[in-house]
Amino acid sequence: MEQDVYNDPEHQKRLEHALETAERVEIPDLLHSEYSGAPFERCVDCGVNLLLPHAPTAPDQPPPLGYYQIAKHFVDDESVFEFALCRVCSEELQSEFSEKTRMALFEFIRERQSFMHFSFDPKVWLSCCRFCQKSRGECRRFSISGVCVQASLILGPGPVMVCEECELECNELISEQTRKRWDRFVDDNFDFPPGVDSQSPSNHPILI
Ligand SMILES: [Zn+2]
Ligand SMILES: [Zn+2]
Repeated sequence: MEQDVYNDPEHQKRLEHALETAERVEIPDLLHSEYSGAPFERCVDCGVNLLLPHAPTAPDQPPPLGYYQIAKHFVDDESVFEFALCRVCSEELQSEFSEKTRMALFEFIRERQSFMHFSFDPKVWLSCCRFCQKSRGECRRFSISGVCVQASLILGPGPVMVCEECELECNELISEQTRKRWDRFVDDNFDFPPGVDSQSPSNHPILI
């Protein structure tokens, strides 16, 4: 059985290094908050200001890389839910997802991620589904996500667009434990009643 990379400190170190050295660009409008019309400013969960540098955890330490994740779900070109989640809240949420889910998704991404973008334009990255290359213009429903540091988007871990069909495939990999944890996150942070409406974030766990 393969090791759960989430619990592998070496993997975390490599990830951290990759994020620190990756190319950064201006956050495109598509990843701005629809609500404010500007880049996301606050973590949806803890309210921390995402655009300010993080304070060092000790006087002789460099400040930690305060990266955060942005996620938006669209229906008919309208963003029906969106959020930005700071690194601390994101790690806490993911640590409570089941190992089974994390490994299934890791495998799914490894198998299906058949190509990489070689462009410094994030619009190119967001123009088609990461897994099946279906054009965004042909999708009625889709999700996008990206990893940012302050006012910059990091190219590498994303940005990513996922079409509805591929998202449904991902959803089938999610364990009961992960779904319950995601529903609690939705319950705590959004006004949607969980599981009622197909547009509800409950039906679109952001895992990638
Ligand atoms: Zn937070
Ligand atoms: Zn797809």
